[in-house]
Amino acid sequence: MKNDNCIFCKIANGEIPSKTLYEDEKYRVILDLGPAAKGHALILPKDHYANLYELPEEACGDVMKLAKKMAKHMTEKLHCDGFNLVQNNGECAGQTVFHFHMHLIPRYKEDGQNINWKPGNPSSEELEEVRKEICE
Ligand code: AMP
Ligand code: ZN
Repeated sequence: MKNDNCIFCKIANGEIPSKTLYEDEKYRVILDLGPAAKGHALILPKDHYANLYELPEEACGDVMKLAKKMAKHMTEKLHCDGFNLVQNNGECAGQTVFHFHMHLIPRYKEDGQNINWKPGNPSSEELEEVRKEICE
């Protein structure tokens, strides 16, 4: 299940070299070429799934377990002060490479980065409308 036009398929399967931190039969973890902070890495499945919607449930568990393992190891080695997991789906959500990936971003007190959003301020009624839209 590879996509011939997908750069992350090629990287994950070793056809294009990368700075690999970890590899097994199904996944490769690489350093991001445009890091938000020192050690910013990406978990790539070796099979092609465009996004979270396409990712099989079993792989969701694998990715989260691998994220935890990598976060622990990287925190010990890099002495970072915190850690973000980021996973974008769709252009409007910031996805630029359409092969599922999980960002592993070590954070440092003085890194000057801002992985954040502008909080809204909905009323209880507005929140209830949203809850109904999702749940009913
Ligand atoms: P996203 O915006 O969530 O789709 O993230 C794509 C990420 O892939 C960005 O952080 C890019 O810096 C990174 N990236 C793009 N091309 C490469 C590449 N060839 N090797 C490593 N990282 C890459
Ligand atoms: Zn791909």
